[in-house]
Amino acid sequence: MLTGFSIVLFGIGIANVLLAIFTLFRHKTSILNIFSLVCLGIAIYVIGYGFELRSETIEEIKFFLKTEYFGLFLMFPLWLLFIYEFYFNQAPSIKINIIVFIIPLLTLFFNVTNDFHHLFYTDIKAVQYEGFITAHLIKGPWYYVHIIYSYATLLIGVIFFLKAWYNSFNIRRIQSMLIIWGSIIPGIIEIFYLIGLSPYGLDLLPFSISIMAICYYIALFRYDFLELHEMIQDVIFNEPSEGIIVLDRQNRLIRFNKAAQKVYDFLNFKIVGKDLIKFTQGKELIDHKENIFEIAVGEDVPRYYEIRFTEMKSKNSILGSAYLMKEITQQKEMIQQLGNLANYDSLTPIYNRRRLVEEAEKEILRLKRYSGCFSILMIDIDNFKEINDEYGHLVGDEIIKSVVRGCQERIRRTDIIGRYGGDEFSILLPNTDNENAQIIAEEICRHIDDMEVIHLNQTIKATVSIGVATAAINSDKEIDLTELLKQADQALYKAKNNGRNRIST
Ligand code: GH3
Ligand code: MG
Repeated sequence: MLTGFSIVLFGIGIANVLLAIFTLFRHKTSILNIFSLVCLGIAIYVIGYGFELRSETIEEIKFFLKTEYFGLFLMFPLWLLFIYEFYFNQAPSIKINIIVFIIPLLTLFFNVTNDFHHLFYTDIKAVQYEGFITAHLIKGPWYYVHIIYSYATLLIGVIFFLKAWYNSFNIRRIQSMLIIWGSIIPGIIEIFYLIGLSPYGLDLLPFSISIMAICYYIALFRYDFLELHEMIQDVIFNEPSEGIIVLDRQNRLIRFNKAAQKVYDFLNFKIVGKDLIKFTQGKELIDHKENIFEIAVGEDVPRYYEIRFTEMKSKNSILGSAYLMKEITQQKEMIQQLGNLANYDSLTPIYNRRRLVEEAEKEILRLKRYSGCFSILMIDIDNFKEINDEYGHLVGDEIIKSVVRGCQERIRRTDIIGRYGGDEFSILLPNTDNENAQIIAEEICRHIDDMEVIHLNQTIKATVSIGVATAAINSDKEIDLTELLKQADQALYKAKNNGRNRIST
């Protein structure tokens, strides 16, 4: 009779080994890796019990009892991890792993070392059945801890799968129900063993566990659910070009997609479960409290992202948060280019007329508050048409650039230079009276006169004429910028008339 039972157990054991291998090689998702190890645990446990039943001495029995507990050591905690990953859709953190394994580890330890302390079995007696011996186990205190842990595990499974059953639709409901029955049936059957009602004093768990395995198997593969479920999620999650980062309530990293990894290279699977605040870029992200904001990533060539922040809520309680990140580098660059076009000259690296006038108005407003002098230099290259005609337009362009450089070399950081148009430039000199403005103008004039541009071994020289206009500004006096510019222009005209390469005021 007992030989018959042990053959059944070997059958169940081998089926579980095959299931473990099949799961491991066909499905490469982390939850199914856990399932595969649960199957392996069941196999070790069941085969161990098969051998225990065939044992002929009490020593053999004790040896296989220990073997069985290696199987149980895998089975129950991994089942909890399986539930966790199924329910929360995320890999459990190291902390959870440790918590789940503490009791099984102690159980294994107390079982293997029972001869020294008898905490697990106070006694193991050999009982004869039809010529075979079986073990009659007198349970010690830790045995009850182990039983409570095992039942708690099954109960937690039932609770979580009931929740999943309640919250889900269609296939997921059937699957959850199957797993619930798979957990309840062995639990109930085992009670018969615990109260001594099982035939031949046989432990029934190794048999009933096969019901559990069959239920899981159907749930997992017949309905293909975990794989499909995870795969669909992965596809949906990884498909968009938008980066997605999901955090829990404590800002711990739950999930991220490939696009998010391209944004932040510190994102990798090792830091799942870690607090994002510990990472500089993570902290920067969390510190933003707006619903939409922008970030720049990378130093040499920054990339820009628009981030949308959403809190995930369920029935008024916050579950966590999600960040959706869309790259906007191109738009940013375009805006910058437009800004450049609107503000800068296309030939030289200085302001254009529009911006120059804007800056002049700002300066006048500022000086109105503090009072002071404001001077404007109007600079025009002398006989520029001739240079263009003689050397061509491209050389003319070079002359314009070198005149700008020459002016920049002779002005202060607070002075503002812009191209007024053609070969005409203007320099704004805040807080500068007419006398000083003339000194600066004279300096520029002499400096440019000294400069040379070498073109095809020819030395080209250019000179400029400069008109200076100054206004004393204070709060009671209205200053008309157009009028001031007109005055500078008139002074320039005078300088030209007086023979060029000179200044006039
Ligand atoms: P004046 O001494 O009276 O200023 O004589 P001018 O020949 O310089 O006369 P004016 O300032 O009126 O001439 C401006 C010339 O500058 C006319 C135009 O062909 C030339 N010019 C305007 N913009 C550019 C440019 O971007 N590049 C080049 N190469 N030439 C330009
Ligand atoms: Mg000119």
